[in-house]
Amino acid sequence: MDYSNVYRQSLADPQAYWAQQAELIAWFKKPETILQQRPQGSHCWFADGELNSCYLALDWQIEQGRGDQVALYYDSPVSGVKQAISYRELLIKVARFAGALRKLGVDKGDRVVIYMPMVPEAAVAMLACARLGAVHSVVFGGFAANELAVRIDDAKPTLILTASCGIEMDKTIAYKPLVDKAIGLATHKPAHTLVLQRPMLQASMTPGQDLDWHEAQAGVEPAGCVPVRGADPLYILYTSGTTGQPKGIVRDNGGHAVALLYALRNVYGMRPGDVWWGASDIGWVVGHSFIVYGPLMGGCSAVFYEGKPIRTPDAGAYWRVIAEYGVNAMFCAPTAFRAVRKEDPEGALSRHYDLSSLKRLFVAGEKLDSSTHDWLAGLLRVPVMDHWWQTETGWPMTSAMMGWDNPSESRLGSTNKPIPGYDIRVLDGDGNELPAGESGNICVKLPMPPGVTWSIWNQPQRFAEAYLSLFPGYYHTGDGGYVDDDGYVFITGRTDDVINVSGHRLSTGEMEEVVSGHPAVAECAVIGVQDALKGQLPVGLVVLKSGEDIVAAALEAELVERVRDQVGALACFRRVLVVQRLPKTRSGKILRAILRKIAVGESYKTPSTIDDESILPEISSVMKQAGLV
Ligand code: AMP
Repeated sequence: MDYSNVYRQSLADPQAYWAQQAELIAWFKKPETILQQRPQGSHCWFADGELNSCYLALDWQIEQGRGDQVALYYDSPVSGVKQAISYRELLIKVARFAGALRKLGVDKGDRVVIYMPMVPEAAVAMLACARLGAVHSVVFGGFAANELAVRIDDAKPTLILTASCGIEMDKTIAYKPLVDKAIGLATHKPAHTLVLQRPMLQASMTPGQDLDWHEAQAGVEPAGCVPVRGADPLYILYTSGTTGQPKGIVRDNGGHAVALLYALRNVYGMRPGDVWWGASDIGWVVGHSFIVYGPLMGGCSAVFYEGKPIRTPDAGAYWRVIAEYGVNAMFCAPTAFRAVRKEDPEGALSRHYDLSSLKRLFVAGEKLDSSTHDWLAGLLRVPVMDHWWQTETGWPMTSAMMGWDNPSESRLGSTNKPIPGYDIRVLDGDGNELPAGESGNICVKLPMPPGVTWSIWNQPQRFAEAYLSLFPGYYHTGDGGYVDDDGYVFITGRTDDVINVSGHRLSTGEMEEVVSGHPAVAECAVIGVQDALKGQLPVGLVVLKSGEDIVAAALEAELVERVRDQVGALACFRRVLVVQRLPKTRSGKILRAILRKIAVGESYKTPSTIDDESILPEISSVMKQAGLV
């Protein structure tokens, strides 16, 4: 397939292009409306089609003869468990669990919050919700109770599903007390908490409120698939925005199913029966799209791994998994391989395993540095493909099309070319299109292709404000970068207050709220500084209230504790610098964009609106003294 022709066609007549792709999935009722403009200016695809996402992932696969094929390889070095679960076995588990959810009052459109580690029951829970037409909202297990409470209040779930614990390396982390605390903090009270007791930790249960995972399923009638409309929500996934309130990204059923099958076949080049490994967590979008729904909807066998790249038991963990299951393609964030390389610089452990099954490696989630790229390419001798997307899109925006005969070559520093359907343009601050090679705001001309979110849960207007208002007619990705003469896209980083720590997207605004809640803090700004291993790390710049004489080290320790407690350990908030003042505009807004530039050692232009420009060298020298730039 010729990339340029197909890409052009997809933009010239998006409806024809995607209607053809929609033919490839098993609808209960085919859509008549292909593209529909929503009131907030976004677009929904296949709104009136009828389908069920669980049916596409399981029942339909079995009807195609894949009942005995492995659907999930659960591999958990942290608990010492391995399971190969066939499509047929997975369907039995999902239908039974869906029956239990129904018995507990979960109906089409109801929300269910899932706060679970990487155990197959979590995938069962997601698929069971989809089977009932209920809307799941998975919250990453690293988030603190306060963050979970915010999500509970926004999604208003009928039930919360959790496990007694997660396991980090050799540490058992109790989940249930955290869920209890979150429910205590939240205004909305879910009817029940359903708890999976893991052998390594028994959670204490409140009779009536808490229910045992297995007991709740005893004697229930397995549930069939409830047809939903293409426009109906499949899940809500909260992601960090620029404010403290996370955005509940809503994924529909119809566009999502079409997009995932398209991505799996065309972008990733996977065929039914192939073994796929999305090495992430179900708490992130990769986990939704490419651990659970995508590979199953595409008839693959997916690895479901509960462990780390290192110390489970060593830095050869990933190589062991690839060899053991004959993984054909893998998806991972570069940070995982940076951790592996740090422990095993020569990649000596890889030579203990037969990695010949692996045909290609995809990385995304953060910038792929050339040194990690070269290390991987040299070690594995397979194409290492950088590609770019975000929670909102649910599937890649730029990538080589590895399922096609002549995929674009990779180009150092680029996340490759736009995928058909994504009309990527680079705009300056006034919305003018910039020529090739010039950096600006990376935007996508509307309509976005199927699968991309078109609303924020409970706040459709916020969707327009966050993504569509700055550049009318375009979706604003929040990333900066440029496109070269040959159409390759280069992502240079976020243009907003979102940072990326180990491939995890975090809001500095959220951390600022926590930091400024400290009694000694007058005001603060949290910014991202570069880190060789994790990509970025947050640093708090703090101005003390006048008369405060708290010792800097004590303040730092207290603030670190606060952020860990209220946001979660995943924020990696460890540094606080006390400064005399923060740079502001004359109207009193902190000049965060300048602070970001100082933090990464970039040159900056002093804005004309600045109140006192002598603050900038002051901040710069504090950061230099602290060894941060
Ligand atoms: P998330 O929504 O958590 O997946 O984070 C999405 C953000 O991660 C994007 O907006 C980018 O800032 C960043 N990102 C994702 N993939 C890449 C990539 N391949 N290269 C550079 N940054 C990336």
